[in-house]
Amino acid sequence: MSNGQERGGINLPFTGIATFGKNPYLTNWESLEADVAILGAPFDFGTQWRPGARFGPRAIREASTLFAFGHAGAYDHEDDVTYLGPETSIVDLGDADIIHTDTEASHANVEAALRLILDKGALPVVLGGDHSVNIPCIRAFAGRGPIHIVQIDAHLDFVDERHGVRHGHGNPMRRAAEQDHVTGISQLGIRNVSSTAKEGYDAARAMGTDILSVRQIRDLGLAGVLARIPVDADLYFTIDIDGFDPSIAPGTGTPSHGGFLYYEVLELLAALAARQRVVGIDLVEVAPDYDRTGSTAILAAQLLLNVIGRILHARQTSGQA
Ligand code: MN
Ligand code: MN
Repeated sequence: MSNGQERGGINLPFTGIATFGKNPYLTNWESLEADVAILGAPFDFGTQWRPGARFGPRAIREASTLFAFGHAGAYDHEDDVTYLGPETSIVDLGDADIIHTDTEASHANVEAALRLILDKGALPVVLGGDHSVNIPCIRAFAGRGPIHIVQIDAHLDFVDERHGVRHGHGNPMRRAAEQDHVTGISQLGIRNVSSTAKEGYDAARAMGTDILSVRQIRDLGLAGVLARIPVDADLYFTIDIDGFDPSIAPGTGTPSHGGFLYYEVLELLAALAARQRVVGIDLVEVAPDYDRTGSTAILAAQLLLNVIGRILHARQTSGQA
């Protein structure tokens, strides 16, 4: 009885079980005691075009093994910092239970898992799933505000109701804006036809969200965007992979050209993490079957590991709780 590690400490990325970053899989959620808890939310019944994001969590976990070499952390030569070193702890809780055809019950399971993670004091990092899974994630923060949401997305996702549907993947930012504990939303990367009808933009502006396209963000520059995000609230990052350009992230249900490149998003999220407290992350809409190269899932895993590393580093070095 020995695993690869015991046999010689090699544990190469392609061996073993594909948990997120090859971190421990925790089946007994009540025993959670870690800096970060990874939760899959493999739910895609909220989509209005191509489904497949239910396979996002598995694909991101598989892709994340690429970055799980046994180097005792991730040394970044530009920052001269070793992120995700042995002093940090990440566990993978597996997935929330999803019930086919039942949005409300599936979302309730995601919310219950989030509440447990928050009660245990860990940073929740949720792997979607379509963007509707953000709705139960934000609900779970009730009583823990104020939080400001930073959304990376091609789409505004601010539809109030369409054909009676209020909890699909076009609704999450509207549902978030209705919550007392959400004090603001920065909607970044929004572009293109079919994002949201004009009423949605009018409603978003009336409810106080800050909407910026990719081109507007490039004009503003990093400092200009940072200046528009309030410093007096905790931050929640909701990252729709279709905020990125389809040339680097084709594996998603509703790709939209003219999107972000990797460093545009990493530098923004890293700067925010260095400046103020980040209390939760979801990364949604990875639908791996539309990308036979696997690059989309690798992008998701790479971004998450780098952002998580920077959040934990900020907590250790700046006294952020
Ligand atoms: Mn979205
Ligand atoms: Mn989107």
